[in-house]
Amino acid sequence: MEQQAIHLVANILLVEDDEDLAELVQMHLKFQGHHVSHVTTVTDAKAKYQQQSFDLLILDRGLPDGDGLDICLYLRQHQDWSPVLMLTARDGEMDKVDGLEAGVDDYITKPFSVLEFQARVRNILRRVSQINDVKRSDDVIINDVMNFGSLRIMPELHQVSLNDKDVTLTATEFTLLQFLATRPGRVYSKDELLDHVWNTCHSGYHHTVCSTINRLRSKLSLSGSDHHFIQTVWGVGYKFQPRQ
Ligand code: CA
Repeated sequence: MEQQAIHLVANILLVEDDEDLAELVQMHLKFQGHHVSHVTTVTDAKAKYQQQSFDLLILDRGLPDGDGLDICLYLRQHQDWSPVLMLTARDGEMDKVDGLEAGVDDYITKPFSVLEFQARVRNILRRVSQINDVKRSDDVIINDVMNFGSLRIMPELHQVSLNDKDVTLTATEFTLLQFLATRPGRVYSKDELLDHVWNTCHSGYHHTVCSTINRLRSKLSLSGSDHHFIQTVWGVGYKFQPRQ
């Protein structure tokens, strides 16, 4: 599907205590037409968040009064699924696991190039805008609740339940599940998923597909289901397999 040339203007909260980096990031975001609020601490971020809502939060991890990841956790605890991009100097696997479990949508490791940063922001905003388009759409096929036995996907509410328990998914995880479930049994390669779900054709993101699939699987299995809804087709890709 061809991307529409839409210009997405977002209200962004940037939480970064490195003043030089914050200035650079703000400059590029503002250049793209976004509105940016900048704070430097976890406390100020929470205060700002209580005053207004944001389309995207960009969070540093090492902040003077704590870990930026706590801001993400705080949002998720308040049932807020706004996209979160972490800026992190730490590239350890444990940090990534921490972040993914806190419901972070994407990571970028410092130092990063401006082009990469802009691409990540653009991709996150596009994904969210597509979800909102689906929410607004009158297309009953897209908006219809999808029932696969114990698994229920509710696109309009952006909710998933399994065995009557809510499964908490990030925007990306939800889009991926919804996309696969729209065509049960159809196998998608990582490149196809990157194209449809992440809006990128850069194969350097293959690991992102794998880690999102793994997260989705573990969240679905935590809900007490022994059925593997998302199956690997070795050498080809992934498919959604409803329970027989
Ligand atoms: Ca810092």
